Order: sequence, then C-alpha cells, then structure tokens
Amino acid sequence: MDSLPLLADHPYASFLDQVEKPARYAGGEVGSVVKDWASVEARVCLAFPDVYDIGMSHLGFKILYKLLNDDPRTLAERCYAPWVDMEAQLVKRGLPLVSLESARPLRDFDVVGFSLQFELTYSNILTMLHLGGVPLRAEDRGEDDPIVIAGGPTATHPEPIAPFLDALVIGDGEEKATEVALTWTRLKREGVPRRERLIAIARLGAVYVPSLYATRLDTDTGLEVVDRPLVDGIPFPIDRALVDLNQYPFPDESPTGGPEAIFDRMSIEIARGCTEGCRFCQAGMIYRPVRERDPEQIVDTVMRAVQKSGQDEVSLTALSTADVSCISPLVKKVTDRLTKERISLGVSSLRAYGLEPDLLDELKRVRATGLTFAPEAGTQRMRDVVNKNVTEEQLLETAERVFSRGWGKMKLYFMIGLPTETDEDVRGIVETGARAAGAGRRAAGKGKPVDVTVSVSTHVPKPHTPFQWAAMDTLAEVGRKQQLLKDTVRPYRAVTLKTHEAHASVLEGIFARGDRPLADVLERAWRSGARFDSWDDQLKLSVWEEAFAHFGVDRARYLGTLPVTARLPWDHIDVGLEEGFLAKEYRKALQSRLSPPCGKVAGTFVHHTNLEDARADTRRLVCYDCGVACDMTQMREERMTFLDRLGAHKRSLPVLTGEAASQPALTGEAASQPALTGEAASQPALTGEAASQPALTGEAASPPADAAPSPEDPARAEAAPPRRAPAPKGRGGFRYRFRFEKTGPMALLGHLDVVRELPRVLRRVGAPMTYTAGFHPKPDMTFSPALSLGVISLDEYVDLRLERDLDPAALEALVASMSAASPRGLAFRGAVKLGPEDPALSKLIAGARYALAFARSSIGADAEAVLAARCSAALSAASLPIRREIERIAKMVDVRQYLVRAEVGGPDVLSALARAGLVGDLVALEVEVDIRGSGAVKSSEVAAVIAGEPGGAPGAIAPPPHRAVRLQLFGRAAPSGSAAGERFSLFDLERARRVKSAPEPAPSLALAADAE
Ligand code: SF4
Repeated sequence: MDSLPLLADHPYASFLDQVEKPARYAGGEVGSVVKDWASVEARVCLAFPDVYDIGMSHLGFKILYKLLNDDPRTLAERCYAPWVDMEAQLVKRGLPLVSLESARPLRDFDVVGFSLQFELTYSNILTMLHLGGVPLRAEDRGEDDPIVIAGGPTATHPEPIAPFLDALVIGDGEEKATEVALTWTRLKREGVPRRERLIAIARLGAVYVPSLYATRLDTDTGLEVVDRPLVDGIPFPIDRALVDLNQYPFPDESPTGGPEAIFDRMSIEIARGCTEGCRFCQAGMIYRPVRERDPEQIVDTVMRAVQKSGQDEVSLTALSTADVSCISPLVKKVTDRLTKERISLGVSSLRAYGLEPDLLDELKRVRATGLTFAPEAGTQRMRDVVNKNVTEEQLLETAERVFSRGWGKMKLYFMIGLPTETDEDVRGIVETGARAAGAGRRAAGKGKPVDVTVSVSTHVPKPHTPFQWAAMDTLAEVGRKQQLLKDTVRPYRAVTLKTHEAHASVLEGIFARGDRPLADVLERAWRSGARFDSWDDQLKLSVWEEAFAHFGVDRARYLGTLPVTARLPWDHIDVGLEEGFLAKEYRKALQSRLSPPCGKVAGTFVHHTNLEDARADTRRLVCYDCGVACDMTQMREERMTFLDRLGAHKRSLPVLTGEAASQPALTGEAASQPALTGEAASQPALTGEAASQPALTGEAASPPADAAPSPEDPARAEAAPPRRAPAPKGRGGFRYRFRFEKTGPMALLGHLDVVRELPRVLRRVGAPMTYTAGFHPKPDMTFSPALSLGVISLDEYVDLRLERDLDPAALEALVASMSAASPRGLAFRGAVKLGPEDPALSKLIAGARYALAFARSSIGADAEAVLAARCSAALSAASLPIRREIERIAKMVDVRQYLVRAEVGGPDVLSALARAGLVGDLVALEVEVDIRGSGAVKSSEVAAVIAGEPGGAPGAIAPPPHRAVRLQLFGRAAPSGSAAGERFSLFDLERARRVKSAPEPAPSLALAADAE
C-alpha cells in the first residue's frame, strides 16, 4: 500500500518514494519555469529519451527550454525517460508519463519535441510516447494529438525512427523550434486538418516530414531509400537550418537543484562546428562551418550563469575547444574572473597545443584529476587514415607536460574497427599508451606514480561522414581485436586497458545506417522489453535477436561496405556538404593521406593568440570547398575582432609559423580533453558532437571520469573533486548555524544532493562560504543527521562558515533571501552566529521527535485507541528487535534502546503535519528517540515495531503505510535527576555551551547518517 502523498496534486505523489531517485520526477528545481497554459499560444514538451541525470546535462535542451520560455507566445516543459522501476509503477497503476513542470501527460501538449542524440535511445522514445498517451506511429495520430518532432544529430539519418515522428528539424533548432510550434498551433486553431498542417510545416524549410515522401528499394544495397516527395512544394532534398549563434546567446540559467546530473557544472557552449575534419566524426561534418560565439558575450554569460546557478564549476565546451580561435585569451580572461569567485574552470575537448604552457598550469591549479586525450588511433598510419592531425611526438610531449606538472593520471581514448586497420594498428594502441607512460615516468621523476588508462571503443561508421561507406567490424572481429589488446597490454604495468562491450555498438551501427523497415524491428523489440539499450546492464540482446529474426532482416546488409555510387537511406537530408567531398575524403583515407585542418594557415595547428600576429599573417587559410562556403575574409576579420575584444593585442607566444608549429613545445598534443570527453554524449540536439566521440559508442551511459564523487565508488570519488584556488590555512570566516525545512520534492532528494545544493544557494544570494584547507578544499559545513528518502523535516540544521561577518539584521535578511533562492521545498527558518567555543552540531544532537502519520482509513475508526495500545505495548517491552539491512548486510537493532516516548499526537502534531503538506483524515503518533554516538534508529523502524507486521526475512518487520515528519532535533542537558535529561533547542547557545563537558551524548553524524 502507498504512503501518504508527499506532493500535493501530483499524480505520482503516493508512490514516488518507492522508486529509485524519486526527485527525477518531482521538478521544482531552481530555474524551472512554470507558465500559465492559458497565457500562451503553443505548449511544447521537450522530451529527452534517457534518464534525468543524463538529460539535465544536455546543452541543446537548455537552449530550447530558455528560448521557448522567454517567448511570451510559447512555453516549454521537460520530460525524461522514466527509469525501468518508474515505468513499471506507471504501467501497474495505469498512470501517464507527465512533464516535470505542470505534471501534465505528453498527450496534452501541442508539440512533443524529442532530442535525437543517439540511435540506442530509440526504444525509450517509444516508451515515452506510449506512456505519454500519444499513439506510437505518426499515421495513427488523430487531429487532436500533438505533433511529435525531433532534432539533433541523429535527425540527419532518421529513417528507422521516422515512422514514429511527424517531423524532424534538420540542423540548428533555435529558429525552427518556435516557428514549428507557432505554425502548428495557429493552423490547428484555424481548423486546418492534420495532414495539411504537416504539409505547411514541411514547407517551412529544414523540416523533414517522413509521411510526405515515398521510398523505394535501392538495388545496389538492398536498402530502402527516400525516393521523392508525395506532394508539391516541399523540399527534396531537405536542407538544414543554420543560425548565427550570436543572435542566440547561450542561456545563463537552466534548472538546477535536483538530483545530481552526470555533468554537474555550468557548461557554456563557446562554438559550434569544427575545423579538424576527423573522418569518423559526424558532428564535425554536419555542423560546419565552425561558428564561434563572441568572447565578450561568453564572459558575460559565464559570470551571470555562475551567479544564477550558484554552481562552483564552469565548463567551456565545443567540439574541439582548443581550435576555437581565441581560446587562450578567452580562458585567461574567464580564469581571472572566476578565480576571485573561487569557481573552477573546466575546458572540454582541449588540445595542449592550443594553450600557452601557463594555462596548463592554470588547469593544474583547478583540476586535481588527470587529463584525458583522444589520439583515436595507435599508429601514425591509422591517425592519417582518420585524419587525426597529431603525431606521436606531440602526444609524448603532452604526456611529459601532464606528468611533469604533477598529474598522476592520463586517459587516452582510442577506437578499433577503423577502415584499413591491421593487427599492428591494434597493438599500436597499447604500445602508444605504454610509450606515453614511459615519457610520463621520466617527466614525473623517480618514485612518482604514473597511470595511463587506454580506453578503447568500437568504431561505428556514421552517415554524412567519409566513413559512411566503410564496413563495421563484426562482433567476432571486435572480440578478436579486444583479445589482442589484452594480450599486448600484459607486460605494461603502468597501462590500464579498458575495452567496451561491443554488442551495443553493433546495434548502434545497424540503426545508424538503417532504413525505414527497421522501424518494425524497433517496435517489436520494444514491445518485447527493449529499454535503455545504451546501458550495458539493460541491453536485452535476445529481444533484438528475436525481432531481427522475425522480420528476416539481414544485419550484414547494414554493417558491410556500401558502394560509393549507391543511393543511401539518408541521402535526402542535405547537411550542406558538396557532393563528392565525402567520397574524396574517403579515398584519401584509404590512401592514408591527411587533410590538415581547414580555416587555419596551412601547416599550423593553432590560431594566433594576439592581434599583432594575426594582422601580420596574411597567408591564405586552408579550405577544401566542402560545400558550406565559408567566407574566409569574414572568418579572418571576426577572429581579429575577437582578439581585440579580449584585449589580446600583443604577442605572448612565439609566432606559430608552419615551422614553429611543428615544434613539440608548442604543438604537442592530440585532442586533449581534461576529463570531459564523456560530455560529448550529452551535447545538445543542436550541436550534437556526441556521435563523433568514443563516449557515444561505449560510454554514453557511463558517468565521466570527473563526474561528482560517489561514496559507493572510491575510484570515482578519488577522481572527482576539482581543485580550487588554494584555501587559506586554518579555518577562516565566520561560523553560523542555520535551521531549515525539507518538504515536498526536497524530501525526495538524497542527502548528498542537499549537501551539494546549500553552497549554491549561498552563492546565489551573494554569501559565499569558506572552504576547508587541504588538498581538496570543500565548503566548510556540517549537517544534522541524514534523513531517509521520503521523510519530511521541519527542523534541520547545518553549521557552516561564511566569508562575511553578519550582524543579526543582516543574518535575518540573508535567511529570507536564501529561501527565495532555493529549490521548491527547501526553506530556511533562522540562523544564529556561533562563537569559536560553541560546540558543533555533532557534539550536541542527542535526540529527535517525529510525527508518524497514518491515514485513518488504513487503521480503522478507532485508530487512536488502537495506536495508543500499541504505544503502551512498545514502551513496556524489554526489547523491540528489528532486522536492518544495509547493502545486503543484515543486523539486528533493538529499537527499544532508543525509544524514549511514543503517544498518539494531539492537535499541535496534526497542525505540524499540515505545515509539512500532509492533510486529510489523519491520525499521528508522536515519538521521541535518542541519537547517540553509538547509533540511532530510523523513523520507519519505529513505525514498524509499534504498528507493523512481521514479514519477509527473519526479524524483518514491515512498517505500515505512513509518512514520517521530523518535528524537532534537540540537544539534551547533562543528566541531572531525570534519566533522559532536559531537551533544549540547538539555537539555545547558552545551554549548548554547558553541554560541552557532559560525558554521554556525543552523536556521530557518520553513524547517524545511515539511521536518521
Ligand atoms: S568551406 Fe572550407 S573552410 Fe569552410 S568548412 Fe568547408 S572546407 Fe572548411
């Protein structure tokens, strides 16, 4: 049976705490926007086909959310794929999948817009449509059903998912999202039939409406291709939308304060597109030309984003950040501003050759983790094939630089299965890692540990790349090469090899180059249980095997070499590349010939970092006439303007001529990614670099190396914390104790998420905290004991240090402003200033008072009498044993040892329940428990021993459906007569000071953390 609802009027309220990470579904984050549905013309549900934690890091989602909500004519709400446990609950209860903001089903929106990042999320799209009450297939949708659209990199080769979508936006979504939404709703209001509306949408340009095009079988390949439009006046092929990024500044705010996202920082897109031309990289091809954001705008956005989000880490992101023309002066300028605020800076996809050495030192100062680089291939020949413009000398130079600066770890990304690959190339991957480790050992000095991780994923040939015609390795071949890697790595102790499960990559390869008939396979596999196919622990190979077999699909057809002359299932989508450009690059690849980066002076790897040199260099910029027709004069002018705006007028690096660029000191490196490689997987629908990154083929679902620490995962915890500016020695600042409440969605948020959120709240209101000293400075704070998920609290505490000395009036004002800057359900109720001698919370907290609320109907009309009798029985028992299980280790706990008081609650308790958001015909118990240094008990254990029924494992007692509210935490005066000692408020500093010398109550927060 369900507990009492935690969130008023939410359809999931009664069972949210029965699913993993319930706050994923609760909303209420700072920066989430709830608009009045009646006030707008078009209501859009932005749907992300993966879990909240992944979708929340997605830049494209943030861009569209802000854009649509800033427009008075439109609103945007969010919906993420329900994890499997939530899906089971929704199916069991017959409930729809709803948006986070207004808890409305997807079917109620005018537009449902999916982000298409990755082929292995297709099955989740079907789940979301089905649970959202939207017919799966476009052909089955009626006049009142929403239009289902999608955008993102995968929209450029959408045939396997096309029958489930009404329309796809090709290219940048900034303009089209609003245009499609408003056109659709206007025509609907005018009574235009659905099909006519779709034709009008198709005529907007850069929109593909699959149902309006006929397909035919291509005899060269046996694949179904899109043949012709079925109505007049719609584009064929369909071109892509391209926006001027500076007309659409990157959003300086987005929802924050919910469960931790995989990239828990403020990521700012600084450029879209890429000049490097890696031949496996789809994003590098489909987002041409490179467009850089105005650096002044970037700096402003960064500073506003920091203030609004309160986050302590900012990341500048682009497909290849180091190849953004003004990256060096930009990083310097941003670093200067952020250092003052004690904010750390991450730079994704960085190449060491694009930075001055002192900037590497800067990175070292703020990032304790190792750095990540992506040489992609293990031999020079193979790097030439993939057009990775980097030499081994540069890579080794990079390794020397990294390890000589004190980093102990370095991660290198490679791929196997690239065209023309030989066993020598495969072995070369490990050998390159070993040589990097050797260079690192020499640079690090004697006795210093050096660890090089070689992470190897499987290449998936992607449409719209020079490798789109290349065969993908079979599973057997991938397995053989992985074994070869394992055999090769054996003698190298300093190299850690990581390979990736290849079944998912093969499935990705089939759907990447798939045609429309694969939609039937997808639907069948989904109906048989396919979900979250990119998650190793969720991929159900057998259902896919069965679905392919059922339709007699020959998978080799999708995985083999395709004729260069053949028409392909994605040829009707024009991403702007000249016909023949990709084929020419493919031929060059097969001849191991490089195409050096375009948009740079021939022979150089980096841009000029100052205006003086940029002006002096009048040499032509490289261009291959790929078809997107860059204006090279404008490109050159814009770069100089940007350098000027950043104040980078004079030379601070040697001039990078062709010769200079070959000198390792300046050019050393491959695509260096300071621990942000995985971010690719979550990049925006609009910038979709995902597809080109190794992370996508094997690690999309995995948290990145620098994701926030998890107490369950020591490796991650060790790798995670970025290092900030040196903390002052000792504990500076001024001590305060704050009291706060956790109700509604905050009761569903894990303790660690609350701990993360508090410093952000304080930064948002301009009251920064001080940090602990040491190697990994952290905000200096101590919380009262953690609560179990779903337990509401009206009396929580935290001791912390602020940089500022505040008088009582300023403190009161701060408390008021903190509530306004907090996620829904987090409210601050008071603060006191502590002196140096005031005991810490951990020395004071001796007990807690809870209300345990039950629906009267669950107990009966005489509920008070029944519960009173149960309380008496419990208090007169000598012991009240219960089984407690933590991480599968069970132990018996005697609740009686902690139970001080238990009685039926009076009107004051019922009014506290109402304040906690619990209303209805309730009956409550009021219980008081001890919290001791030796341990504590959970409220659910108290509810179980008083009113529960034995069941399950020996000693286990199931608590009855109830909702617990922590009413009070208190200290206890030194025992003087009464056994328990007199309770006192944790704000009563007079009494607290007297406790200091008392021998007994010395609760440990570490112990209490697992038992309220
Ligand atoms: S037009 Fe030339 S410079 Fe522009 S992206 Fe294509 S190859 Fe590069």
